[in-house]
Amino acid sequence: MASFDVIIIGAGPGGYVCAIRAAQLGLKVAVVEGRDTLGGTCLNVGCIPSKALLHATHSLHETHENFAKMGLIGASPKVDWARMQAYKDDVVSGNTKGIEFLFKKNKVTWLKGWASIPAAGQVKVGDEVHEAKSIVIATGSEAASLPGVTVDEKTVVTSTGALALGKVPKSLLVIGAGVIGLEMGSVYARLGAEVTVVEYLDAITPGMDAEVAKAFQRILAKQGLKFILGAAVQGVSVTKGKAKTTWKLRKDETEAILETDVVLVATGRKPHLAGLGLDALGVEMLPRGQVKTDAHFATNIKGLYAIGDAITGPMLAHKAEDEGMALAEILAGKAGHVNYAVIPGVVYTTPEVATVGQTEEQLKAEGRAYKVGKFSFMGNARAKAVFQAEGFVKLLADKATDRILGCHIIGPGAGDLIHEVCVAMEFGASAQDLALTCHAHPTYSEAVREAALACGDGAIHA
Ligand code: FAD
Repeated sequence: MASFDVIIIGAGPGGYVCAIRAAQLGLKVAVVEGRDTLGGTCLNVGCIPSKALLHATHSLHETHENFAKMGLIGASPKVDWARMQAYKDDVVSGNTKGIEFLFKKNKVTWLKGWASIPAAGQVKVGDEVHEAKSIVIATGSEAASLPGVTVDEKTVVTSTGALALGKVPKSLLVIGAGVIGLEMGSVYARLGAEVTVVEYLDAITPGMDAEVAKAFQRILAKQGLKFILGAAVQGVSVTKGKAKTTWKLRKDETEAILETDVVLVATGRKPHLAGLGLDALGVEMLPRGQVKTDAHFATNIKGLYAIGDAITGPMLAHKAEDEGMALAEILAGKAGHVNYAVIPGVVYTTPEVATVGQTEEQLKAEGRAYKVGKFSFMGNARAKAVFQAEGFVKLLADKATDRILGCHIIGPGAGDLIHEVCVAMEFGASAQDLALTCHAHPTYSEAVREAALACGDGAIHA
């Protein structure tokens, strides 16, 4: 038996960041991880491998779509799927090994195996029971299931199977038009698959600013993705390696069937808490299956905390990381804090979509007086030069005070552009503050400035 200040269960972005920060602050820290590699869902089967495949297939798309326009003529590359998979695996392994290095550097102990919590203050891994003043549940999430759909990770897959298919399918049906479904749908559409996305709601990317979601759907449709909205999937049956998906349109109950090589179930994720023994401990849960925590990530059991996908809030790696860092600071006697009003969300398709703060729909529902500054990438010289002028920046500011309330971007580099708005929001900046800040020319970021100008006397290049 060993004894620690903190034992963290799960080495995803929440757990590993919490561990490193707690160690930096002088605590004796161990992390229990059952996977063979560190980094959790994000590094192993989430953010990182999906971005590797998005990058590779975006590059392929560029060669087909835009190279000739720039005078780059010649044999166009063909896809060697095995090598693309190997590239993706290399990217993953480089990143997971990086966390192992950081653990060593910061003297964080990795307890290998699956953990349970037999009693408050104790963590069991294999036959060993360890003690800790504080225990952190950072066990993340797993793909949610859908009635009538059995996942075999070959023909009917979750995102994990979709990242490692044996071959590029000729046809793919994606159930769920959320971020993961659209990113993986884009990957396979660029590789030549016929991709059909079936979504229960009447719009894609639920919760996103409606104007942006609409533009996003139009752009993806131009790229070849087919959308069937307002459709409730009834079931998927597999015969001879082909999947038949049946759905009913919600408006008139019309039934339809589509046969595809692969079906990706991307209907959301749920906390992964099995085997921890939380019931026996009497840990309070939320109705949707997350661990209930207070504003300091504490559960109802003394010394037991939870962060990341295992608790409420957006299921995002950076949200988990911020909670990990804040909790480490709280455990070290400092004042850790997460500002949930300024958590960006990004979809890494081409173009990227990025959002932070409130949507126009939310402001309307609140009855808040607001103004909109919009600027199209058609007016941005850099975006036009690289054939990425589709999309716009939409900045929302308080009508009376001009304080920035939200920003929604669809266009090149949106996932990076959003951060100047995040910083501005953290500082309580006005749209005019952004508008008066000099932005280098020619950059995509000028579009953010122009949207801020549009909140005032008007954009220049509109
Ligand atoms: P996780 O990363 O899920 O890590 C939890 C770890 O705990 C796992 O390694 C698990 O093995 C371990 N564990 C669980 N139970 C036990 C136990 N009992 N004992 C020991 N170990 C245990 N988010 C973004 O912000 N950007 C993206 O681009 C993005 N892309 C994504 C793409 C895909 C395909 C998927 C599936 C997710 C994506 N996400 C993305 C979401 C992101 O991966 C999660 O929000 C994030 O990983 C949550 O971090 P976490 O630390 O809470 O848990």
